Amino acid sequence: MSRVTSLRGMESAVIVKLGGSVITDKSRECTPDLNSIYLAAEDVASYHRPLILLHGGGSYAHPFAMRAGLQYGFKGKSQLRSISETELHLDELTRIIGVSLLLRGKQFVPIKPMSFITLRDGRVGKYFIRPIINALRLGLVPLIHGDIAFDETKGCGIVSADRIASLLGERLDVSRVLFGCDVDGVYTRNPKISGEAELIKDVSRKNHLEVLKALKKTPSSDATGSMFGKVTEAIRLARSGCTCYIFNLRREHALRDALNGTMLRGTIFPPWRTPR
Ligand code: ADP
Repeated sequence: MSRVTSLRGMESAVIVKLGGSVITDKSRECTPDLNSIYLAAEDVASYHRPLILLHGGGSYAHPFAMRAGLQYGFKGKSQLRSISETELHLDELTRIIGVSLLLRGKQFVPIKPMSFITLRDGRVGKYFIRPIINALRLGLVPLIHGDIAFDETKGCGIVSADRIASLLGERLDVSRVLFGCDVDGVYTRNPKISGEAELIKDVSRKNHLEVLKALKKTPSSDATGSMFGKVTEAIRLARSGCTCYIFNLRREHALRDALNGTMLRGTIFPPWRTPR
């Protein structure tokens, strides 16, 4: 892994990921959950240290990307319209979040993954993260959504906001990554289906394989792999020295508490080596 880029005299950054399942209504295409967005924006605005804000596409992206099979690569010209449409929808969602931040006095800058990441056979290939570092140095919040990306071998693919979180967390001086979603954390089974699901309070070097094995059995209904994908990225981050949390963004001010380090309920991924 390449070295971590220092933010030159700045405090380590925190990465916050707003789950698409919270900030959009996943049952209705292109429908924002404005209440959740406003609450999250309020909590982000009350935090005055370096922060990178990521968000999932939810119903602004998954239905279109999945219908066109964009996650499987470029198959034909009929997919081109879906690429254009998905990009327009994602911009719209980012604008809603951006306006919500600005109204609360938080300055941001949207940065599009399609322009700074390329894939190779579905995996992150090349990337250029200097604009993110420079934005942080100026005191701006880089605002980044999960995206379609060009793939050197398959033509196109999807890079999830969870994957972008681990890419940035591994490459930049980041202390914590906070994944906000619509459940309290990682459970032994999908809590939306099983009444017997139990919350796993921490995922460590010791139990991570067992947790991944249990999650692998859960079928995914979106283009980016649901909880299994999130946990995979959180483990990758913990391995590189970041602390991660998966928590319920729907609980009022849970994000504020997570930012302040006073989170009450959720799943923690402690760093596997000396914390940054
Ligand atoms: P987001 O869009 O917020 O990033 P995802 O939809 O990708 O979140 O993942 C969260 C969803 O994962 C939850 O709504 C839950 O239904 C599902 N899920 C499946 N298995 C589990 C599990 N073992 N523990 C927690 N959530 C799970």
